[in-house]
Amino acid sequence: FYVPQPCAVGQECVLPDTTFRHAIQVLRLGVGEPLILFNGEGGEYFAQISNVSKRSASVQIDSFAAIDTESPIHLTLIQAVIKPDKMDFALQKAVELGANTIQPLITQRSVVRIGKEQVDKKLQHWEGIVVAACEQSGRTRMPTVQTPLTLERWLTTPFAGTRLILAPGDFPRINALPMDLPMPVSLMIGPEGGFTDAEVTTCVQAGVLPVSLGPRILRAETASISALALLQQRYGD
Ligand code: SAM
Repeated sequence: FYVPQPCAVGQECVLPDTTFRHAIQVLRLGVGEPLILFNGEGGEYFAQISNVSKRSASVQIDSFAAIDTESPIHLTLIQAVIKPDKMDFALQKAVELGANTIQPLITQRSVVRIGKEQVDKKLQHWEGIVVAACEQSGRTRMPTVQTPLTLERWLTTPFAGTRLILAPGDFPRINALPMDLPMPVSLMIGPEGGFTDAEVTTCVQAGVLPVSLGPRILRAETASISALALLQQRYGD
């Protein structure tokens, strides 16, 4: 379970509300039962439930293990915002596949628009997806979800490493990139209607490498899963 707070061996700590609901109210764990906690900064804390009341529960932290399930490469997924259920799916799978940063992107063909007043709520929702995916996949370092940016803004954001844009067409295959590719890597995936030709050209002029996944057009969320898996297989773990 994720506890977004500093933890220390020997300490008693109160479970955050969401963890309380999940562990105590849904899973019905009780006093004395063991829990594994992580705070997103690496490693796992082994604890047991020490106190349960109607509205809260606390745990006693017994030990710490420096468990590291992170890939040696740092991956940023620049995912054009797609329909909400597909976006959630893409984010969940990106975390399972080891993405470290998720940058939602607004492009010309983005169907889903996020108003300024909805940004915080959206971010909170996506962070919830990321937390649940970390809990499920045993990641102990929390990937970050950035505030959505337009494609033009993203291109002006400094990024040391290799920037890739996935676009169907006569581009080199993603799994044929050189082995000595400068790290870290960022990977742009388009929305349901794809990137416009002008967007691909703008990206290429800005030094982004266009790459393909082959002759079949994949849904955005399938493209994201496939590309992340190929990058991990070639450069990571
Ligand atoms: N007709 C759109 C096009 O030609 O770009 C299809 C868009 S596809 C459903 C959504 C996104 O998935 C694309 O913008 C691209 O980033 C990625 N994608 C899907 N299939 C791909 C492929 N074979 N090669 C590279 N990228 C692909």
